[in-house]
Amino acid sequence: MNEDKNGKSSALLTEEQREYARQIFKSKDYAEKWKGISTLFLKTKAESSIDTKEVQREILRIKKEKGALILSHNYMILEIQEIADFVGDSLELAIKAAESPYEFVVFCGVHFMAEGVKVVSPEKTVLLPRLEAGCFMADMINLEVLKKFKEKHPGKPVVCYINTDAVVKAESDICCTSANAVQIVKSIDSDEVLFIPDRNLGLYVQRFTKQKIIPWDGWCNVHHRFRPQDIVKLKSQHPDAVVVAHPECSPEVIDLADEVFSTGGMVRFARETKHKKIAFATEEGLIDRIRRENPDKIILSVGSPKTCVNMKSIRLLDVLSALKEEKYKIEVPEDIIERARVPLIKMLEISKGKDFVRKIFSTSGAKISLS
Ligand code: SF4
Repeated sequence: MNEDKNGKSSALLTEEQREYARQIFKSKDYAEKWKGISTLFLKTKAESSIDTKEVQREILRIKKEKGALILSHNYMILEIQEIADFVGDSLELAIKAAESPYEFVVFCGVHFMAEGVKVVSPEKTVLLPRLEAGCFMADMINLEVLKKFKEKHPGKPVVCYINTDAVVKAESDICCTSANAVQIVKSIDSDEVLFIPDRNLGLYVQRFTKQKIIPWDGWCNVHHRFRPQDIVKLKSQHPDAVVVAHPECSPEVIDLADEVFSTGGMVRFARETKHKKIAFATEEGLIDRIRRENPDKIILSVGSPKTCVNMKSIRLLDVLSALKEEKYKIEVPEDIIERARVPLIKMLEISKGKDFVRKIFSTSGAKISLS
């Protein structure tokens, strides 16, 4: 984040856009929360040796006994990915949960994602093994400042990246993912669009539309740390490598990448491309997964591997406790669930069609109204 203080991407935002976000960054709560997660991550990294296979067996035994579904985000540690029923991105996992007959869902990912599962499947018990596992980006916007942002731009639709809390989704017009953000923005009948909370994704979408994107000044603490010089260095060392960046990377990194893909797009690209050497600018857990799935290819990280400390703060023993003690239950108020579903449903109708939406939401007890 520092390198761009005086850089090109910052200059793409007005002083006013940055000021809204500063209200959150400067707050004591924000700083305290993130100091806490870093300590937790360091402590868990140094955890005493456990018999991993034994703990995994115990988790699978209880999972079977209780009839639970274990979902793992791509950025989880390998030991958790290995025991999960599904590994994927946040939307894929929310859909897997909705399709599953299991009532218990142990969600190994961050808080807003677990909330997303609850919003789609309110009848299920959603357990997050560590409540502290939040998201730097999702915490860069809240209801109060979003309302001010909307007041400043009355009547402008709000496109909300899926990486947000349910209460923020509830106050937005339509959701998007990094895979469908361009399609979603283009579907909106408005010359100007407010885009929250990731300014890099908003600026990426701006490349493909004449609509004016007014981005919030939030970013991902993992993807924003890739630097243009990392790509320059990688290309000089590996001129035969194709470089793939995530759209949460800065505009300067996007400019230098050969390809830009969402998480799911990266997995597909690695599988289908004829390139034998691929360098990714994304979280190291996903790079590990791609490496495992493509043993015939050389898979590199652009620059040093980047870790999401929130994701990695969830350990195998936390998953075991979550299953045993049925904790920590994710609760979202009913009215927020109903309102947060509207932008999600609108997105899914556009990206996957109405039949898909009907199928996914048909098992749930919550009200849905398809447009
Ligand atoms: S990788 Fe970035 S956006 Fe994803 S959970 Fe971590 S901080 Fe949030």
